[in-house]
Amino acid sequence: MTRIGFLGLGIMGKAMALNLVKAGFEVTVWNRNPSKCAELVEQGAKQADSPKELAANCDISFAMVADPEAALAICLGPDGVAAGIGEGRGYVDMSTVDDATSQAIDKAITEAGGRFLEAPVSGTKKPAEDGTLVILAAGDKSLYDDALPAFKVMGKMSPYLGEVGQGAKMKLVVNMIMGGMLSIFSEGMALALKSGLDAQQLSEVLDAGAIANPMFKTKGPMLLAEDYRTSFPLKHMQKDLRLALALGDKLDLALPTAAITNEAFKQARKAGYADEDIAAVYKTVK
Ligand code: NAP
Repeated sequence: MTRIGFLGLGIMGKAMALNLVKAGFEVTVWNRNPSKCAELVEQGAKQADSPKELAANCDISFAMVADPEAALAICLGPDGVAAGIGEGRGYVDMSTVDDATSQAIDKAITEAGGRFLEAPVSGTKKPAEDGTLVILAAGDKSLYDDALPAFKVMGKMSPYLGEVGQGAKMKLVVNMIMGGMLSIFSEGMALALKSGLDAQQLSEVLDAGAIANPMFKTKGPMLLAEDYRTSFPLKHMQKDLRLALALGDKLDLALPTAAITNEAFKQARKAGYADEDIAAVYKTVK
């Protein structure tokens, strides 16, 4: 049986690691704040004292941490994954980062003799709990094949996208579109309510037309109920918009709508909504 490691037990990582434990894998976990390991240990996981120790004792280690800084912090350095990975073992980073970060991690892992795959995910807390994420994998193909049984537990599809960087870029494009949609949806909802329209009727009209989508259906009632319990922290969406814009800069591509969306999320972050759900962007509009 493949020994699995899991680093990062936030909203997403905790649900993903729990599914791996429930599926019968031998799982070892690590989290920067070690108290978050307790629930996984109760369910049968082992706990490692450092990313290095975890990587040294697992065949494939997965990570799901906040941002590029976190992804680099757990991989590099004397206690990092690269220091423990050794010959042939696998490292799969599922955090949302930019392509340059992913490539730096790939370099550190392969120089240490390991194999690397990036695999950011599309889908939020509920799909993570249900094991229905969309996993955007790119990098070492033999590791992709070895990781597939675990991907099948965590997700409903896991396309292989080619060389390291392609998964990161795909993820940033997807979230850039999602952020833009949520921002304009918030403005539409605010305009509808201020102009005396019925929110329920707006939802029904949207749902019957060409721009119907599951996100409007999920987030619409949240906006109206002022329910901003966190599935996807707003600060992480703003990070994704920032990284997508940086990719556009690098490619000399103008992204005016994404730039305005980023400003809307920055404003919401500055207003104190960083740890609330992305739906809280509505609070700065209404
Ligand atoms: P989260 O709940 O904020 O969890 C973040 C995790 O990263 C925690 O385990 C945290 O450890 C760890 N971390 C942060 N900084 C660190 C550092 N410097 N060193 C080591 N560990 C560090 O975030 P999440 O929602 O699970 O998201 C995780 C990743 O998935 C992000 O890249 C996000 O963009 C992406 N994502 C999220 C969603 C979603 O809907 N939530 C969907 C798709 C993708 P502590 O517990 O010690 O703070």
